[in-house]
Amino acid sequence: MSKPVFSFEFFPPQTPEGMDKLRATRKQLAPLKPAFFSVTFGAGGSTRDRTLDAVLEIQREGHQAAPHISCIGSTRDNIRTLLKTYLAQDIHRLVALRGDMPSGMANAGEFRYANELVEFIRAETGTHFHIEVAAYPEFHPQARSVRDDLLNLKRKIDAGANSAITQYFYNADAYFNLVDVMHKLGVDVPIVPGIMPINKFAQLARFSDACGAEIPRWMRKRLEGFGDDNGSIQAFGLDVVTQLCERLLAGGAPGLHFYTLNNSAPSIAIWKRLGL
Ligand SMILES: Cc1cc2nc3c(=O)[nH]c(=O)nc-3n(C[C@H](O)[C@H](O)[C@H](O)COP(=O)(O)OP(=O)(O)OC[C@H]3O[C@@H](n4cnc5c(N)ncnc54)[C@H](O)[C@@H]3O)c2cc1C
Repeated sequence: MSKPVFSFEFFPPQTPEGMDKLRATRKQLAPLKPAFFSVTFGAGGSTRDRTLDAVLEIQREGHQAAPHISCIGSTRDNIRTLLKTYLAQDIHRLVALRGDMPSGMANAGEFRYANELVEFIRAETGTHFHIEVAAYPEFHPQARSVRDDLLNLKRKIDAGANSAITQYFYNADAYFNLVDVMHKLGVDVPIVPGIMPINKFAQLARFSDACGAEIPRWMRKRLEGFGDDNGSIQAFGLDVVTQLCERLLAGGAPGLHFYTLNNSAPSIAIWKRLGL
């Protein structure tokens, strides 16, 4: 089996202070020698310049950066321009997504689904980029059916994606089932679990409701029971997420992708517990 691929995801900060904080976060994570740091892209292009700035800094520091790139609000022309910039900056990995329509935005853009974006990137740049796409162990909330959602993931791989990163989840069986079903559909690219450390319960509950990632009832009850006691929430979260990662790696997951929310400490704590 090939070596597991570990990576960390950031969002592009809005302020100079946020950029400073992200620099410090990267400095703390760099010794873990991840395969890449990825930077999200605000759908509609709202973070286009900030994503680029963060990505260029990461490259200048000598790390591999993987910009996220999304369909919503994008045209063929502006994706082409962005691809040229990334090619010129020696970037080799992209995370290609549809994105979500920001409220009040009317123009969805020229690509409807992520498979069309993957196809376009391949047509424009050949095999230069390693393209990651999103996968959903608990299914995408807008999917017409479970089967459609699985076939849509296959469509992105068939369009030329090299691997997938999942939405976060706390139920390892959902991940193993996805890998198993995709394998049966003839998809055998790496599907890397996305890991969301647990730091603040209210924030996690909000994210989870929006993206369709389930917090199992027993976990939700325990987390609610801690009230404002953040220390207990974090200690419980560390135990649960470490055990999840252990199970995933032992079961053959090809790596882990950490959603850091620009904080290094929760991911580092899990990393240390895993003895990586
Ligand atoms: C690892 C990861 C990173 C992310 N990073 C970002 C980011 O940087 N910026 C951001 O805005 N969002 C990000 N997201 C969120 C993502 O944009 C949303 O989940 C979005 O709603 C779906 O994006 P997608 O690329 O999975 O879309 P798609 O694969 O296009 O799927 C969207 C929906 O349409 C359906 N579908 C797909 N193709 C077709 C088709 N051809 N015909 C009919 N139905 C179809 C799917 O089943 C699904 O329900 C990320 C998600 C993940 C898991």
